[in-house]
Amino acid sequence: MGLTHMQIKELLDESRAHECDGVGPDNVCVRIAAIAELPSRFGAFHIVAFYNNQDGKDHVAIVHGDVCAKENVPVRVHSECLTGDVLGSLRCDCRDQLETALRMIGQMESGLLLYMRQEGRGIGLVNKIRAYGLQEHGYDTVEANLALGFRDDERDYSVAAHMLHSLHVRSIRLITNNPRKIEDLTRLGIKVSGRIPHVMPANEYNRFYLETKAVKSGHLIDLNGKQRLAEQADYPIVEGMNEEVLEMLLSSQE
Ligand SMILES: [Zn+2]
Ligand SMILES: [Zn+2]
Repeated sequence: MGLTHMQIKELLDESRAHECDGVGPDNVCVRIAAIAELPSRFGAFHIVAFYNNQDGKDHVAIVHGDVCAKENVPVRVHSECLTGDVLGSLRCDCRDQLETALRMIGQMESGLLLYMRQEGRGIGLVNKIRAYGLQEHGYDTVEANLALGFRDDERDYSVAAHMLHSLHVRSIRLITNNPRKIEDLTRLGIKVSGRIPHVMPANEYNRFYLETKAVKSGHLIDLNGKQRLAEQADYPIVEGMNEEVLEMLLSSQE
């Protein structure tokens, strides 16, 4: 059973009048702007569109089942990747991660995915393409980001935390392989009651992760010795992954 008409009306009415002191260092406040059904190839969902006072972007929640006032709601936080999610780029595995998460949530009793419009680890689409260009001239992904004047991760979860508050989600089980993401959300006032590992099926597109030999300071090193960042905030676990690499990945993120 998804969100009822009554719940949708209440959420929208409440958001219309909503004001608060904000979440996180930038006092982010969000409001639900619109809600509609979104049947998809992954199941029956509602899509909830949000306004916020920080970045002028339209972040959305894709909700399966009833999550309002619920405990232990499975949640995936996905950062937008136009090249991967939409265009099927093989430079990253964002699309695999997105589809795996939506399929998982669509088969559960309830759950939701927050689709955050923070392209390229928060540096934006144009800068991400610039970084790709630099990689064609011998930079690795860390060097490319630093050359453009960015830290290697510019993401912030304040908007995501407030979106969960707006939906009255009481506690979440985060679908992630990254304990640091749990800490970030906890610091922002989200009760994380558990973690669901995000394990992707092996296919020809995630061969990189299956072949990767080493990990340095939380970054994957490819067979040419170049560092590579995951475009999503945590490293994916792929079925059949080298056990040694898997262990290093998990310990490097603690
Ligand atoms: Zn607010
Ligand atoms: Zn990507």
